[in-house]
Amino acid sequence: MAKSHETEHPVKAFGLAATDSSGHLSPFQFSRRATGDEDVQFKVLYCGICHSDLHYLKNEWGISQYPLVPGHEIVGVVTEVGKKVEKVKVGDKVGVGCMVGSCRSCESCKDDLENYCPKIIPTYSAPFSDGTISYGGYSDIMVADEHFIVRIPENMPLDSAAPLLCAGITTYSPMRYFGLDKPGMHIGVVGLGGLGHVAVKFAKAFGAKVTVISTSPNKKEEALSNLGADSFLISKNDDEMQGAMGTMDGIVDTVSAYHPLMPLIGLLKAHGKLIMLGAPDKPLDLPIFPLLAGRKMISGSGIGGMKETQEMIDFAAKHNIKADIELISADYVNTALERLAKADVKYRFVIDVANTLKQA
Ligand SMILES: [Zn+2]
Ligand SMILES: [Zn+2]
Repeated sequence: MAKSHETEHPVKAFGLAATDSSGHLSPFQFSRRATGDEDVQFKVLYCGICHSDLHYLKNEWGISQYPLVPGHEIVGVVTEVGKKVEKVKVGDKVGVGCMVGSCRSCESCKDDLENYCPKIIPTYSAPFSDGTISYGGYSDIMVADEHFIVRIPENMPLDSAAPLLCAGITTYSPMRYFGLDKPGMHIGVVGLGGLGHVAVKFAKAFGAKVTVISTSPNKKEEALSNLGADSFLISKNDDEMQGAMGTMDGIVDTVSAYHPLMPLIGLLKAHGKLIMLGAPDKPLDLPIFPLLAGRKMISGSGIGGMKETQEMIDFAAKHNIKADIELISADYVNTALERLAKADVKYRFVIDVANTLKQA
């Protein structure tokens, strides 16, 4: 008979889990593996609530394994290291993002792109090689191979650093890879949520002119004054969109609902690139002719490799980039998820795990 979640590993752990696709989170006793030679164990201080957590909790992608402890924007302080660990020591500030394992030998892994490894092990709801399931950061303690640990620089506030481990790298990586990181470029950011608001900050730090493209006119003031965008387009306003046609070098599209691509392709200059980062559950219409006229490109991108994630965090620390967060207590998490489903958050909920996650 299979061992229970509480006893399958030697280290006691406590967190919040959903037991079915209602997605409702309740207190959950489980266990973590003992710290192996290459493992880092850490006390979780903060964990961001990513939109993917919502998809997983409700099994909207059909791959969820219950009980499910979400959370892949995790920061904390190291409590124990294995004897071969070189990257960090006890007391260091560290983070774990969207993955805790990969094959380490395929072409993608060799290129420091573990995020594209066919055998990637996501941080939660995925099987390890021993058959046990990964549990995420809505929990008191975490253990991971040091390869998947990110060092958090001393000067970074830990709560607002947490969302960078998913939202940050997801926007930073494509702007770097597709060469949209050059000073003077004009970059569009579609959607102003968890991903979009950090995309604006990274693009500004690269020296770009940034235009936010949104359906909501009420986000204009916020985008321009608080986030530092240079201009704002209301996507439903044909005159505004027409006036910006052919002006952008690249567009980062963070929207995960169905939306037309034609107007966005129109905003691109010749050779412009439209990068899709959201994951709409229905296919979008792809008009080809406007791509031919201007040799334009549409691509997708998903998170980033470990080397680049460290580079992103160091870059963010240097440029004082952090996520705008609403810090919540663990007992507010179900309400926070309901609000997130309605996009009612500026711009990321972060759970104050160490101070508020208490065993009953
Ligand atoms: Zn995420
Ligand atoms: Zn691999």
